Formats: sequence, structure tokens, C-alpha cells
Amino acid sequence: MPDKVKCTVCGNPVSLRYEPMDEWGIKGPLCGKCYSQKISEHYPGKHVRVSLYEKKEV
Ligand SMILES: [Zn+2]
Repeated sequence: MPDKVKCTVCGNPVSLRYEPMDEWGIKGPLCGKCYSQKISEHYPGKHVRVSLYEKKEV
């Protein structure tokens, strides 16, 4: 069985998984995009940047 991790929010396959915070009420991994979106939703004052460029080796 392939162990493909899917984003709990958008359902896209996740290569680099992010763990949601407990207070978000999400039980499952997130992709970087949804993670940073949740961060900005829940913590609007903080400009937390998720490094989405780590994977790219251009
Ligand atoms: Zn997602």
C-alpha cells in the first residue's frame, strides 16, 4: 500500500507535510499552502512565513 499523504484541507498530495495546531481542529497533515493559510487565518497579526521554496532546487 503506497503511503501517500494527502492534505486534509485541499486533498492534494503532500510532499512536505505540516502538522496543524491543536486549536485548528484539524486532524491530519497539511500542505504548505494550507498551513500558511491557516496561520494567517488564526494568527492574522503574525506574518509567519512558511518556507515553500525548500523543495525547489532550481
Ligand atoms: Zn492543502
